Amino acid sequence: MAPSGYVMNLQPFSVNDGDGIRTTVFLAGCPLHCAWCANPEGCNQTRKVGWHIRKCIGCGECAKVCPQGIGIDLNAEREKCIACGKCVEVCPQKARVLMVQKMDADEVLKQVQTHRLFYSYSGGGITFSGGEACLQPEFLNYLTEQIYDMGYSMDIETCGVFDFEAVRPSLSRMDLIFMDLKHMDSAAHKRWTGAGNERILENMAKLAELPAEVVVRIPCIGGVNADEDNIRRSAAFVHRTLPKARMELLPYHEFGKIKYEALGIPYEHPEFLRPSKEEMEHLRGIVREEGVEVADFR
Ligand code: SF4
Ligand code: SF4
Ligand code: SF4
Repeated sequence: MAPSGYVMNLQPFSVNDGDGIRTTVFLAGCPLHCAWCANPEGCNQTRKVGWHIRKCIGCGECAKVCPQGIGIDLNAEREKCIACGKCVEVCPQKARVLMVQKMDADEVLKQVQTHRLFYSYSGGGITFSGGEACLQPEFLNYLTEQIYDMGYSMDIETCGVFDFEAVRPSLSRMDLIFMDLKHMDSAAHKRWTGAGNERILENMAKLAELPAEVVVRIPCIGGVNADEDNIRRSAAFVHRTLPKARMELLPYHEFGKIKYEALGIPYEHPEFLRPSKEEMEHLRGIVREEGVEVADFR
């Protein structure tokens, strides 16, 4: 029987998560808790319903079907919500949405196959992301085995905190592995993400055993990690442990803000700064100085 797993979203026509046109499969649950996380719905593996206030027209259809007696303002009574999804089915504006759901692996496979023509024309495929895609090893291994047999390209984005042996079969089937490196200083990594970086550095070194191309990604956040010293140390580590790997530096963004709003969670981080274009180019120059090629999928 096919396993089931917690899925945030299947996003077709993705062009920033690998080569060509891809479907990105966002799997829920993450061992880190980054202060700047753009996917707060994926922090754990529970069904979640969101409410996009800006789309809501106040028609009241959601309140009529809610078994918990919750009114239009979901955020005011969120603790009563059992994420049954009834309001999602009747909302005419798609203002109520399932942000995490449990899905059968075969249903995921069916959905990703609907865009197979785009994969073959564009050299694209499927990218696994999250949350942390490696946190559901049985689900991931089943999906990657089936997709590998179908012949589609597969990439994965990971935060680096996972049981390597549990997902080795999946990682071995990947064409490209994006692994994050958020800070070279373990204490700073723990301060901003809730965990030190030891496991990430260990897993990153093990990627050398796999056939996949590797891109080490740094989300560059002013006030956290977007400084010369951190970038130089990160690039030197990558050059030393994975000489063929490339690095991609991505400037901090606030695209996740809308999701915090939909989940009724406050998002206020004035201390995080988006580096300017010039600052990003300067940091990329440091990566090159350390002998690492810079990648750009954005
Ligand atoms: S059904 Fe949708 S649009 Fe209507 S009140 Fe509820 S959330 Fe708003
Ligand atoms: S998901 Fe279910 S319990 Fe939650 S608000 Fe919608 S109808 Fe009510
Ligand atoms: S690793 Fe990614 S998904 Fe997990 S908390 Fe950090 S930013 Fe969010």
